[in-house]
Amino acid sequence: MDYAELQHVFPDTGRVNARGNLEVGGVDVADMAREFGTPLYVFCEETLRGRCRAFQEAFRSMHPETQVVYAAKAYVGPALARLVQEEGLGLDVVSGGELAVAQSVGFPPESIYFHGNNKSEAELAQALDYGVGRIVIDNLPELDRLEGLAAARGQTQEVLLRITPGIDPHTHAHTTTGVLDSKFGLPLATGDATEAMRRALRSPHLRLVGLHFHLGSPIFELEPYAAAVDAVMAFAAPFREEGFQMEEFSPGGGFAIAYTRDQHPPSPADYAQTIVEAAHKACETYGFPSPRLIIEPGRAISGPAGVSVYTVGAVKEIPGVRTFVAVDGGMGDNIRPALYDARYEAVAANRMTEPHDRVVTVAGKFCESGDILVRDAPLPPMEPGDLIALPAAGAYAPSMASNYNLNARPPIALVKDGNARLIRLRESVEDMLRSERV
Ligand code: PLP
Repeated sequence: MDYAELQHVFPDTGRVNARGNLEVGGVDVADMAREFGTPLYVFCEETLRGRCRAFQEAFRSMHPETQVVYAAKAYVGPALARLVQEEGLGLDVVSGGELAVAQSVGFPPESIYFHGNNKSEAELAQALDYGVGRIVIDNLPELDRLEGLAAARGQTQEVLLRITPGIDPHTHAHTTTGVLDSKFGLPLATGDATEAMRRALRSPHLRLVGLHFHLGSPIFELEPYAAAVDAVMAFAAPFREEGFQMEEFSPGGGFAIAYTRDQHPPSPADYAQTIVEAAHKACETYGFPSPRLIIEPGRAISGPAGVSVYTVGAVKEIPGVRTFVAVDGGMGDNIRPALYDARYEAVAANRMTEPHDRVVTVAGKFCESGDILVRDAPLPPMEPGDLIALPAAGAYAPSMASNYNLNARPPIALVKDGNARLIRLRESVEDMLRSERV
């Protein structure tokens, strides 16, 4: 197979080694499959750090006052939280659980952004107790609830408002968030955004430091960002008379990555160019001093760094129809194809130099007909025991993993300079039964 065609979909250290196997971070994927078992997620440390740096450099070269905040929902564990902190990133969390991971490694609270469309009172209290830097208010009831909690504690909390600008980024309906018909955010169109500005500006226990929007994900087009920046700044301008100062402005995340060989998404520099130029222009137009920019890449940091590895089991040929190659994982470790028709490449990780010229369907082992990982994957003839790897699996695969059919969730190996270490162990049956009762 021609690895050059796929190189941009794999981690930076991905290559075909002298044994004809896929190698990541200097470690042979077949060796890891033997040592750790499959299914297995492999994360390349160099790619993770490289992506953190690429976003920081791209935005800071144009707008030095930029804070890159990693969206933990893409995948987070203590090791990854520590890694992004070492790279100088903040953390966007959306639950008490994600916040607890941050707390477990002493993540600096001031660099934490707490998002979510239905944060519970307990989660808000956890955030106030830990002193998170910003709570991003999603709706009016939440604004009032947070105001009440902060007042009861005699605290003042710095907040952003999540504005829904009504702009379509043309991604899958399940991952579009910035349009009016969305559960997320304070719409400009309904007056909720205006009401939230007034309440936040009046509140003695909330300090409104800026505005946020997030359009959806993955966004391959640049124009929606520019349009949304303008729409939100235009909305905010009249509130200066009521005392509003835009210290911070957050155009969210949603930056696309290549999942398949034909995809070539904008680079961090392309996104930076559009967003920073739009922000500078809007500040000039609407008379705002230049704010601190907060960007929240999730997928674009961890996605390209991850590869999932499976072992082939049953191969079922239906003459004239298709060949199903079933692997030992599936929708329990990567729900994205079933959830929103996500497409992936697949390679034979232990036979990389053989022609990948038989089109087969890579199926999972879960009891759903929809448990298909890759519908039309060119692969060599596959035998039980062969290894299949899916690139670009680092985001929203491990974090959305489930115990469906009571399959254990896979371990995660972090690779660097020829060494692999597990940053998450394979779940055991005991783990899965721990909270069950007869
Ligand atoms: N920020 C917010 C508020 C989000 O809702 C999301 C994704 O849902 C992200 C950032 C991260 O998106 P992505 O992983 O596509 O960069």
